[in-house]
Amino acid sequence: MIPATSFQGKRVALFGLGGSGIATARALAEGGADVLAWDDNPESVARAAAEGISTGDLRGADWAGVASFVLSPGVPLTHPKPHWTVELARGAGVEIIGDIELFARERLATAPTAPFIAITGTNGKSTTTALTAHILQSAGRDTQMGGNIGRAVMTLDAPRPDRHYVVECSSYQIDLAPSINPTAGVLLNLTPDHLDRHGTMQHYASIKERLVAGSDTAIIGVDDIYCAQIADRLERAGKEVVRISKRLPLTDGYFADGSDLMEAIDGRYSRIAFLEGIGSLRGQHNAQNALAAVAACLKVGLDLGEIQAGLESFPGLAHRMEQVGRKGHVLFVNDSKATNADAAAPALSSFPRIYWIAGGLPKEGGIEPLRSLFPRIAKAYLIGEAAPAFSATLGEAVPYEISGTLAAAVEHAAEDAARDDTSEAVVLLSPACASFDQFKNFEIRGEAFRQAVNAIDGVSAIGGAR
Ligand code: ADP
Repeated sequence: MIPATSFQGKRVALFGLGGSGIATARALAEGGADVLAWDDNPESVARAAAEGISTGDLRGADWAGVASFVLSPGVPLTHPKPHWTVELARGAGVEIIGDIELFARERLATAPTAPFIAITGTNGKSTTTALTAHILQSAGRDTQMGGNIGRAVMTLDAPRPDRHYVVECSSYQIDLAPSINPTAGVLLNLTPDHLDRHGTMQHYASIKERLVAGSDTAIIGVDDIYCAQIADRLERAGKEVVRISKRLPLTDGYFADGSDLMEAIDGRYSRIAFLEGIGSLRGQHNAQNALAAVAACLKVGLDLGEIQAGLESFPGLAHRMEQVGRKGHVLFVNDSKATNADAAAPALSSFPRIYWIAGGLPKEGGIEPLRSLFPRIAKAYLIGEAAPAFSATLGEAVPYEISGTLAAAVEHAAEDAARDDTSEAVVLLSPACASFDQFKNFEIRGEAFRQAVNAIDGVSAIGGAR
């Protein structure tokens, strides 16, 4: 745990007692703060109190004596409307911050040179964070990973000059971290997302921009217009900007040329790493993630040999285009995390011949946005409540069956793919739907897929349950 010593002797109000809220309250108390914590859910309050956290209704608190208000990132700060605690804190002129801010202040106070890589973007945050941490760790660096992935940031080990932090940041967390100051800030991409919580795209982009604006070096994916403008703006303001592109040769920066990762300096190119043969990093989207990880690792002093070795041994993240088994020329891929059409697009773009298992609880828009990828689909196996709607969209364009259950879909897709005469046929679970009609969550759906695949005669498993 990281004791939040910069709050020693201060009164801190805290709202939101989910997993990270309790960890944050503990870190504050350990650092010597006088904490008063609350939640709208009485069960969460009771659980925190049972763990020794001082709780009390913030409506009745004396806000005049509160130095800081720590808000859980899941609680609305601005949209659709500020939470009642936000109104109270604002009324009393109390700063509103989150756990990433606590971490940033603690690092600054205790080990300001500890390498800190902060990663955000609309898509690919977790993959890039896990990949960066993996490369650092395999190069023998003391590495801590957390934030919006895995462990809450204040549960990590305390900063030391040689300790590397790789922290995934959601926009909600950045919104609560006004002095975020990473050594390398990564902004992967920006597409409209979570606008219910951020109002407009401009507001959403401006929050994400803060992470790179506060960094020593800003690593920015310039393949979308929002990020390209941010890179230009920061460069004009004198910031060190490293551009990355998954598709365009750049004059300066890093870009992907097929599976080669290239460095450009003044229009001269050289290959610095490659992704050929790395199953966990297939697809153009993963080239973007890998470029960001490479740029960040170079920034903190890794050499190219260490980076390539880390790329090659990256196991990938579970449920995100995760290769789970192979039988002859048939590869089985679990992309259960793809809970809408946009999230399913990268997997469908990454393989040329697909036996596609899709369906579940449908999202607005269905699979219409994936139409341009239909030619890659040899056959679709539809499950769950979305099956009738998806079959209507597929129509004559793609052969399909209504399999109903995931088990039946895996069995039939495996049989059909085995008869395919291409060099690699992929049985892909990328449902473009939520899981809740048939499974508790996407992780359990992905595990069910893995088990069904491994139960097939002759399949050799790739990786293990994680
Ligand atoms: P996040 O943490 O931002 O949600 P993940 O790394 O968990 O992202 O990836 C989730 C899904 O998003 C992946 O299964 C893939 O479909 C898609 N994805 C991953 N990286 C990218 C990227 N760089 N650009 C676009 N989509 C991506």
